[in-house]
Amino acid sequence: MIADNLKRIKAEIAEACVRAGRAPESVKLIAVSKTKPASDVLKAYEAGQRVFGENYVQELLAKFADATLQNLPIEWHFVGHLQSNKARYLAEKIAMIHGVDKLSLAEEISKRAKQRNRSIPILLEVNISNEVTKHGLKPDALFAEAEKIFPLPNIELKGLMTIASPDREKVKSEFKEMRRLFEKLKSLAPKPDQITELSMGMSGDFDIAIEEGATLLRLGTAIFGERSK
Ligand SMILES: *Cc1c(COP(=O)(O)O)cnc(C)c1O
Repeated sequence: MIADNLKRIKAEIAEACVRAGRAPESVKLIAVSKTKPASDVLKAYEAGQRVFGENYVQELLAKFADATLQNLPIEWHFVGHLQSNKARYLAEKIAMIHGVDKLSLAEEISKRAKQRNRSIPILLEVNISNEVTKHGLKPDALFAEAEKIFPLPNIELKGLMTIASPDREKVKSEFKEMRRLFEKLKSLAPKPDQITELSMGMSGDFDIAIEEGATLLRLGTAIFGERSK
């Protein structure tokens, strides 16, 4: 079932790219495996998926340590809200941290990456729907925070991430606004070529995200089925 889902989703992504006049390679699919067992990750891996996302640190660490996954060339992304005191657990292996929403967290990631003698790609999370329950920077606070984060060593600010509102009616304008913020971030960046990633689009709205320029899609349910918790 996971292999079938992946096949279908990839075809849908390719079709949406054609409709949007984009190259299918310009969009990367992150399979969000949170709450799902390592055996599901393995099934997706065997179907050719190499990029996975998790949003609980404990769970990601369990998957890092899982004997069946340990030696596979999987690219792990952390896609959710990260508490500063947990950043050190991710520093060795994580490929990208989506969802950095304050300077202090960026500083902590920078420090932990330095200890590992590496650079960690990060995205800033924007609360585009302005829901109080959501994490992320308000659009009007984004650029001031980005200006402070750009100079930090051992992290590479590569773009923006968001979770749209559940109301599909609103999603298009929210993603459009994200695209505008992304272009503005690029224009302000010391190295504009470094701003390449716009992480938006989940199982219910990835078609719209592709239309509006997403480069990273984060899909869980559409690949692995409904989550029980
Ligand atoms: C769970 C989660 C996803 C995947 O959501 P689906 O609707 O299951 O595709 C994507 N991004 C984040 C940050 C998540 O927490």
